[in-house]
Amino acid sequence: MSATADGFTFDPFTYYDITIRDDNSACINYGQTFDAPCVYSNAGVPRVQCGRCGKPMTITAATRLDPQPEMS
Ligand SMILES: [Zn+2]
Repeated sequence: MSATADGFTFDPFTYYDITIRDDNSACINYGQTFDAPCVYSNAGVPRVQCGRCGKPMTITAATRLDPQPEMS
């Protein structure tokens, strides 16, 4: 089972390298993109918040990490 977020399909409980963009026009980061190299998908929807405004950021690219990182 997989879920989608911002048009991307994510496997649950999986790590992804994602690119996100801040779409909050009131934020100093508005329109900027950031790379998040190791984001956990949780139940299938990675959650990435802006460090400035705290709003969820829009996912513009996503790559499943291969191999998956070892997290213990
Ligand atoms: Zn922001």
